[in-house]
Order: sequence, then C-alpha cells, then structure tokens
Amino acid sequence: MTNSNSRPPSGRTGGGPGAPGGPRRGGPPRRGGGTGPSRGGGRGGGFGGRGRNDGRGPRGGAVGPGRSSAVTVRTRRIIELPPVMTVKELADSFSISASEVIGALIANGVMATINQQVDYETAEVIATELGYQTRQVIPQTDEERLLAELEQPESRLGQQSRPPVVTVMGHVDHGKTRLLDAIRQTHVVEGEAGGITQHIGAYQVEVQGRKITFLDTPGHEAFTAMRARGAQVTDIVVLVVAADDGVKPQTLEALAHAKAADVPIVVAINKIDREGANPDRVKQQLSENGLIPDDWGGDTPFVEVSALQRTGINDLLSLILLVADIKESKADASRMAEGVIVEAHVDPNQGPTATVLVQNGSLKLRDTILVGGVMGRVRAMYDDKGQKLRRAEPATPARIFGLEGVPQAGDRLLAITDEKLARQVAVQRARTAHMTNTVSARPSSLDELFKGAAGSKAKELRIVLKADVQGSIGAIEHALGQVSEGDITVSVVYSGTGPVSESDVRLAAASEAIIVGFNVRPDPAARRVAEAEKIDIRFYNVIYNLVDDVKAALAGLLDPEYREVIDGYADVRQVFKLPGREQAAGLYITDGKAVRNSKVRVLRSGTVVFDGSVASLKRFKEDAREVQTGFECGLQLNGFNDFEEGDNVEFYHQEQVKRS
Ligand code: GDP
Repeated sequence: MTNSNSRPPSGRTGGGPGAPGGPRRGGPPRRGGGTGPSRGGGRGGGFGGRGRNDGRGPRGGAVGPGRSSAVTVRTRRIIELPPVMTVKELADSFSISASEVIGALIANGVMATINQQVDYETAEVIATELGYQTRQVIPQTDEERLLAELEQPESRLGQQSRPPVVTVMGHVDHGKTRLLDAIRQTHVVEGEAGGITQHIGAYQVEVQGRKITFLDTPGHEAFTAMRARGAQVTDIVVLVVAADDGVKPQTLEALAHAKAADVPIVVAINKIDREGANPDRVKQQLSENGLIPDDWGGDTPFVEVSALQRTGINDLLSLILLVADIKESKADASRMAEGVIVEAHVDPNQGPTATVLVQNGSLKLRDTILVGGVMGRVRAMYDDKGQKLRRAEPATPARIFGLEGVPQAGDRLLAITDEKLARQVAVQRARTAHMTNTVSARPSSLDELFKGAAGSKAKELRIVLKADVQGSIGAIEHALGQVSEGDITVSVVYSGTGPVSESDVRLAAASEAIIVGFNVRPDPAARRVAEAEKIDIRFYNVIYNLVDDVKAALAGLLDPEYREVIDGYADVRQVFKLPGREQAAGLYITDGKAVRNSKVRVLRSGTVVFDGSVASLKRFKEDAREVQTGFECGLQLNGFNDFEEGDNVEFYHQEQVKRS
C-alpha cells in the first residue's frame, strides 16, 4: 500500500493546521471524515495529535520499513524542530520552498498557508514524507538560557578559600544579639576601623588575620526564610544556649534547622557569668539531642562565653575558624558575582537599597545585576562600616544602590553581561510573581491582625513603631506615608528606638494600635502585657515586607469590592501600520491567554503606557475570543496606536470579591 505519495489512511489527519487551539478555519472539507475536530490532539491541536494512530496499528505504520525504501532520504542530519512552528519556519528548517511543504500538507488533506502554524507531530509526518529525519526540541526559556550561560561547572567554585559565613541561633533571650554585638565591637576588621557601624544585616570581623562574616539577624526565622527561597547562605551555625536556662524549645528548633540544612554547629554556652550557670547541664541536654561535645568524645565544639563580660569570644572565633578549615569554603573571585540578598528596603533619599552577601565571584561598581525579578546597575556600594567599596569579594556583605525595585531577602543576585537577556528574565519573573500575588487571596490572618483597627469607626490604621535605629524609623515612616488608600490613613502614634517595652504595649492598647517592631524584640515585661492585653506585635527586618503587610491590611480595611485578575501576558513581536494612522500589534502570548473582552495594559520597560480595552483580537484575520499561551495573534486597542516592538501587554479583568 505504500508509495511515496501515499496519503495517510483516514483517521490520521484531523482538522486544519490553522489556528491551533482556535476555531477551525474554512478550507476544504476534512479528509478522513469521522475523526471529529482535531483540537483534542495534544498541544495546540494542529492536525495529527493524539488521535492520529486511531485504528491503524502502531504509530508510524505509514512510514514503516516497507515505506521507507520508497522515500528519498535527503539528509542523514537530524533536524531539530520546536513544538509549534509556521509552515515557513518548517520549510526553512528543511531548506526547501514553502510551496513544497504546502504541497505535502495538501497531499495529507490539509489546506495550509505559509504563515499558519503546525505542531510537531504534523511536521514530523510531513518531514518523513519529504525524506527528513526530525527530533523535537523544547526551546529553552530565557531563564534557562541565562543560567546555562552562567554555569561553568569546572571553574565554578574556584580554588581560593573564602571567609566562612556564620549565623547565630538559639532560644529567645539567651543572648544572641548581645553576642553578635560583642563579637562586632571587639573585632573590627583591621584598617577599616573608624568607620561608623552600619546595621546592614551582615558584618565581617577579622581574627588571626582571617575574616569571618556574620549574619546579624539572629534566629532561625531569617535562616529558614532564606532556605525556603533556595538560598543556602550559612556555612556554620553558632547555637547559643544560656548556661543558667539550659536547652529550651527554640534551642531545639534551631538545632533542627541547622541539621536540616546540614550546617556544622558550634555551641556557645552563654551567660557563664551568671549565678546558677551550669554548662554541664547544657552539654548533657544537647548530648541527649545528638550534639555530643568534643571533650566528651563527640565532634561538636562547645565553648563557654559571656557576651556581657565579653569573655570567651576569642575562643569562639578560633573554633569557628577551625570548623571552617574542616569544611573549607571555596570561591573564585575573578568571576562575575553571584550572591544572596540579606536585607532590602527603600531608602527615602536614595531609593531601593539592598545588602547582598557575595557568595562567589566579585561584585564591582557599575556591574549590571539581576536580583529576583529586579534589574539594576551597581551605582554605589558600601561595606558594614559605611565605607565605599569598589569591589566586593566572596563572603563580603555590601550595601548596594542602583536597583530598579526592592528585592526580597533570600533573592539571588547575579551579575551579568547579557543585559537584554537578563531583562527578559526579570520581566518574566516579575510577571510570575505578580500573577501569583494577584490570584492568591489575602491571608486571613492579616484580617485578624488588623481587626481591632478595622472595627473602629475611624478609618485609620494606627501603629506604634519601634526600631533599631532612628534611620530605620525615618525610612519606615516615609514608606508608610506613601501607602494611604482612599479615605483610610496610616498614622504612627508613637515611634522610638529600642526594644518594645511595656509602656509601648500599654500605649497600643489604649490607642487601638498595633505594634510594629523593626529589628527589635519585646522585653519580657512587654511580652507578658501584650499577651494579656491581646495586642499584636509584628516583627520585621525588611521594610518592604512591613509596608507590604500594612498595604494588605489597608486593603482589608477598605471595602474592596473588586480585585484585579490577570488573564494573560503577551509580548509585542511586530507592529503593523493600518490605514488612517491606526496600528495593530502582532502578539505572542507568553502566559495565560489573551481575552477579547478583557481590559488591557501596555507596558514599556515595566512602565504602564496605556490602560484600556480591546478593539479587536484576531487570529489569521479572523476574530478570536481567546488566544492561548504559545500562540500569536493580532491586537488593536481602542484609542492606542503607539505600540512598539518589545512592549508587553497584560490582559486582565476585575472580579468581584466576596466580603467575609
Ligand atoms: P536574644 O533574644 O537571644 O537576642 O538575647 P539578647 O542578646 O537580647 O539578650 C537577652 C538578655 O540577656 C539581655 O538582657 C542581655 O543583656 C542578657 N545577656 C546576654 N548575654 C549575657 C551574658 O553573657 N551574661 C549576662 N549576665 N546577661 C546576658
């Protein structure tokens, strides 16, 4: 039955190749009637698809051995094809004319024009008929391309050893903060003394001519939050246990987190100056939990310290270096930088700023960087003493300026050369994040949190703000000043530096306010009263997160009846001039779908240049109601004729929100 012109038996082809996923276009009646509409067949429909073997034995029967002898094999090369391509692209891949491909399609009962799309399965059938071997390749995403470019497996980590990065964890009030202060104040990096201490989320000290980097947000919450975002920053955990208090629930939690991350632990038994200090009890308790002290024959170093009296600090640092030597951390300072964001916020004068911990390579002034979904160029860089940096080497914390937005703690920083590619990745990442944000509902705990304020008649969210330094207060108040919504305002009823105190809590209770602590903790009395009075205290170490939560709370206080839901995203691939100054854009749908009846926003470099409605949405000159991801379509907008290639388009609609 086989000859080189044979057509596939009925059932092999489905509908037309045009408008995959969309309505079947006119064209001649389908051959092989009875196969029904072709659209069920896998991605994009096309023809072929899953149904194409129906009732005719093993797949490929028509091109099986008996047949191949009759087919002229034109090349032994295997031609790689994407999941969907136009007829022209298919012809180009074979280096033959489009009319030859169209001829083959027609021979298979499908009318196709040069710009119509076919799926891979269709292309494969045609290829075989024409004597080509093909293989499907799923194109890399921009993200994959970017990562592939950065990946240099052999030289990736390099051979230079870098300073270890240390996180201090332990139960509340066991002295983590005090210990970090003691270490910092007694071991300023040589040659940099004289600078003013900056709280940037991490600092470096120098011991025995070697550097150690400390993350100075103590506690396992920050550590875990970073790990949750895929960032393993810490090389060594210092587990602080108060000698007079012994192992407590958070001690065990911290221990579990360090173990889960497979990070070596050094135990600092703190407060040994205290009466009732019992280091042996701590050793006993930790042994029972799998941490055997080295002097008891185990392999965990223990050291006794007093953060208050600053004793034992040098021993602790020596032990850290010893552990670092066992698990030597390597890096290559000559590479482009890779790092992790430790903290980020908006500086009222200088805009977005972030502390990055460089993990590999060196970050240099003027480097182009991609941080999560945020692009930037390093405009200025400072160390933890506030001194200007031109270059930040592995394990160096640096405060950077020049970001186009505010990243999140735990976001990865990459210095890159291909700015265009990086920008595409940034846009895609930001979209994905935006899509998730838009669709997911606000957590109800937030509603709970601000209920007190919501219940009051006055539409005002009152805040008692406590922060580590005056600078933070200024920045937070400035940021909060920007977030009033409608007739609801944010008012900071009191702000001050230092821990949250009992009087702060009483003030909050009296003024129906909530307490926000930035880089501070409550003192024990405050905690007691807050519990009794049921006053919520929220802690943050990233201004961005704080502001975000307040915004969400405001949205809860408002009477939101609608929220925005994104239907899809598209890129403008081409711009067409139409008669009379009108314009249409050739779009490629990158996410979700384009919807005829939705609203539309046009973005250029992340900025909205138009917000309006669709005048027409077309696929192959025919009106379409929806166009799915991976397909092209034509778009005209009401009142907008300024498309540029590279613009991004968002299709969205408003959805009524049920009030709880
Ligand atoms: P964190 O919650 O673990 O950060 O604990 P802090 O560093 O805030 O310390 C809690 C309390 O313990 C503070 O009042 C400190 O002054 C005190 N403290 C910390 N280290 C020592 C120490 O070595 N000896 C004594 N006596 N008190 C300490």
